[in-house]
Amino acid sequence: MSLRDLQPAPLSHDSKDLRPFIVPVFIPHAGCRHHCVYCNQAAVTGRAETRSGPETIRNQVAAFLKFRGRRRGRAQIAFFGGNFLGMAEAGIRQLLTEAAGFVRSGDVQGIRFSTRPDTVSRRTLDILSCFPVQTVELGAQSMDPEVLQRSRRGHTPDDTVNAVGLLVDRGYEVGLQIMAGLPGDDGNRLMETGRRIAGLAPDFIRIYPTVVLAGSPLEKWYREGIYQPLALDAAVDLVQRLFGLFRAHSIPVIRMGLQATDELVAGGAVLAGPWHPAFGHLVLCAAFLTAARRALKEGGEPGLELVLKVHPRSVSRMRGMHNDSCKRLKQDFGFRRVDVVPDPALAEDEIALRGGSVVKVYG
Ligand code: SF4
Repeated sequence: MSLRDLQPAPLSHDSKDLRPFIVPVFIPHAGCRHHCVYCNQAAVTGRAETRSGPETIRNQVAAFLKFRGRRRGRAQIAFFGGNFLGMAEAGIRQLLTEAAGFVRSGDVQGIRFSTRPDTVSRRTLDILSCFPVQTVELGAQSMDPEVLQRSRRGHTPDDTVNAVGLLVDRGYEVGLQIMAGLPGDDGNRLMETGRRIAGLAPDFIRIYPTVVLAGSPLEKWYREGIYQPLALDAAVDLVQRLFGLFRAHSIPVIRMGLQATDELVAGGAVLAGPWHPAFGHLVLCAAFLTAARRALKEGGEPGLELVLKVHPRSVSRMRGMHNDSCKRLKQDFGFRRVDVVPDPALAEDEIALRGGSVVKVYG
């Protein structure tokens, strides 16, 4: 079979709903001629190389496929951490050829990568046309020109709009990455970014709070007092609002917060900012607490004991980290006791109060 026989693997509507098993291949800073103020890919990925050779890819993929074991379903090789379409054409072809071999053997079903919006053009997409690429993630980060400029992104919101249009025209699944807490950003600008991103109707979103990474230009700004990162609570609140916005547009948010790599957890890579290993969970906890508060303010709840029923998978979201949400409801509303009870009859985003009223968390 030649590479041309490997169709760009069309995605059925159903397959888009399933999260693929991701086989990550990190290519830190590969194809990147920029230095965004917050970036130090080596600190995030724990890899300093700018290019992964065929041997490295084969080893990484083989190790992950072993880890995958018997779990079936769609799997994709994912090139992360670089600017994929910013690489020279020969480099792009080399990585895709290597990855396509695993598609040909049936080990994975497709390829995905992340790239900058300003690298997507008819010319670069032509390079992909004979490889089984299914998904492209764009680092949009913000749709505010000033925020992009102060973050030294080197592209504009229009680049993101154009890139999404080109990718959709060619049938790729499109993911957009955005960041909260960038230099020059604030709540209003971030929500406007959210609305513009939602208007592009991507297939999924990732949201990253900006942290100060060692070795990034932001480190210098932070030490000089030029940049102040968001506090954790503020970042959770902002991302919760964005999450609600994307839910309202039925756009899946597949990640909130940086992946907890060893380097981030123990390596001292994060100097300051809203880093938490379970950031996404904190956001969901905040959403449940907000909804419960709203319901209690609107409807009240008689007695000194509050019982909140939620779907079994949402119990920890309702309780909050270390039961914090229950404690705050006790304090704020004067309850002696707050219990969270699992009820499989409820949807995952519902909370039932004792009187029988049911509230939607993202209503
Ligand atoms: S965020 Fe992406 S584009 Fe910016 S410096 Fe890092 S690798 Fe390059």
